[in-house]
Amino acid sequence: MKNLRIGILNGDDIGHEIVPASVQISRAAAELHGVAIDWQPLPIGRTALDTHGHTLPPQTLETLKTLDGWILGPIGHRAYPKGPNAINPHPILRKQFNLFANVRPTRSYPDIGCLHDGVDLVIVRENNEGFQPDRNMLLGNAEFRPNDEVTLSMRVITRTGSSRVARAAFELARQRRKHLTYVHKDTVFKLGCGMFVEECKKLAPEFPDVLVDDVIVDTMAMRLVRDPQTFDVIVTTNMFGDILSDEAAGLVGGLGMAPGLCIGDGNVCMAQATHGSAPDIAGRGIANPYAMMESTRMMFEWLGHSRANPGAVRMAASMSRAITEALGDSQARTGDIRGKGNTASMTDAVLRRIRA
Ligand code: ATP
Repeated sequence: MKNLRIGILNGDDIGHEIVPASVQISRAAAELHGVAIDWQPLPIGRTALDTHGHTLPPQTLETLKTLDGWILGPIGHRAYPKGPNAINPHPILRKQFNLFANVRPTRSYPDIGCLHDGVDLVIVRENNEGFQPDRNMLLGNAEFRPNDEVTLSMRVITRTGSSRVARAAFELARQRRKHLTYVHKDTVFKLGCGMFVEECKKLAPEFPDVLVDDVIVDTMAMRLVRDPQTFDVIVTTNMFGDILSDEAAGLVGGLGMAPGLCIGDGNVCMAQATHGSAPDIAGRGIANPYAMMESTRMMFEWLGHSRANPGAVRMAASMSRAITEALGDSQARTGDIRGKGNTASMTDAVLRRIRA
């Protein structure tokens, strides 16, 4: 069995707290199941700007090409100084490695302040086109201001982009409760959302075991609040997915409970929590590490299957059990989810359960 090669990219702000915590629990689980991992710490973000003169140094990008996957901490690019070397690395990473599907689970746990019990859904957000002007063009940016009065924002929808994210969602639904909901607004965006819908519909005959339905995005925003338990896998375009996944996080305790895994054509995957770098709480040791830990766990499960590495699958299962049990420990879990603990106590609680 080849060693898994995994990058550690702390990112900014609370990334320096929650990424090391995720690596710590992964090391413990890997040791337990005899999974050999070559860890590669790599500079990125504000620290990389200070030490290497760029927020995404060329050597980081080159090394990523040699890895199976990596943990990317949150990026606080809004606080970067202005300048050509202080770029937001997200769109480059997602595009360069063709990470077109952002898989974002939402699950409710007891006693942590969820608005509903029994929520277990996954939003699959298209990652590389749509309205996001920093990643939907080969060159340039898809926002224009012809004069001081007018701004135009361009949305890019392609058949290929729609079809491949829909396929990823169908495949995920097949492994879960076999229910896929595609979300759009083709009543208004007749061509853009229309194309996305056409591609979802085209794939349905290949997945006869999956129940397929669709919901208009504004109705979805309402239904997520009212009856989130009725959904299994939801697939949608970039901006809708961005908004709905934060809404979904709000149902189950907030952004600290919102993990994510970016996947694409099967070569690599990137563990990336849904939340930002939370500068308001950075450095205080109180960030909830759940989202980053669970994103990391998803990465090992994905690698276990894609690299035929059963130890990594077992490792992910141990992490899952330990994380779930630690969430039940109100002394250990963080304050945002009705706990009395902090990042360190929650990490210790997970570690103890992995080693138990
Ligand atoms: P971005 O636009 O980069 O996604 P954002 O503007 O959505 O970022 P966040 O950095 O995600 O903002 O923070 C939003 C709020 O959620 C803040 O009050 C922050 O402290 C809180 N938050 C985010 N992540 C966590 C976490 N892991 N643990 C506890 N609180 C968090």
